[in-house]
Amino acid sequence: MPRACFVICIALILPLVAVVPASFADQRATNWTGNFSRCDKRFELLRRESMILGVKISTSNPVLAREFREAMNFWSQVLDMRWHEDPSSACAVQLVDGTPSILKKTIVARAQFTEWDNFQGWIAFNPRAPLTAEEMFLTAVHEIGHMLGLKHNPSTHSVMYYLDLEGSEVLDRQDLAALASRHRLRVSSIQEPITVAP
Ligand SMILES: [Zn+2]
Repeated sequence: MPRACFVICIALILPLVAVVPASFADQRATNWTGNFSRCDKRFELLRRESMILGVKISTSNPVLAREFREAMNFWSQVLDMRWHEDPSSACAVQLVDGTPSILKKTIVARAQFTEWDNFQGWIAFNPRAPLTAEEMFLTAVHEIGHMLGLKHNPSTHSVMYYLDLEGSEVLDRQDLAALASRHRLRVSSIQEPITVAP
């Protein structure tokens, strides 16, 4: 049984290529927007190795802030990256409180995508969503995963599955292969799933 059925985020569920007329197929998708400050070093997220990510924590929820930091620590163990808090515009990533226009209905969080237009480095959470600390952590890992280039994984065991289900707690081979195509990993093998834990 799912312990919760929150939609983590909806991006990339739609089969864009199949439904878009050929004349529009080369148009890029556009990220959501909001009244937040841009992160000037956001394209650091595209670096293959030695990423140094400044993270601006702008949420009103202190538990979410803590779990987001833990999620950054998790990613620092998987990838060749370091992170630090940076409240200035020199951030690469900013955690913001999402508005209803960004987080529709049951969606609790959304990341922007580096390859889409209007990429500003933002990850939005609903700070009042009734999530446990563990769910906040797993959702933060999921959203940061999107910013690092991961798409949704059809496996319900992957942390990149689009719903928050019991057992959605690994980076599987598909996730790790996708990561390795964009970033240098700290793990020696992409064949072994990595458990997602603080
Ligand atoms: Zn997602």
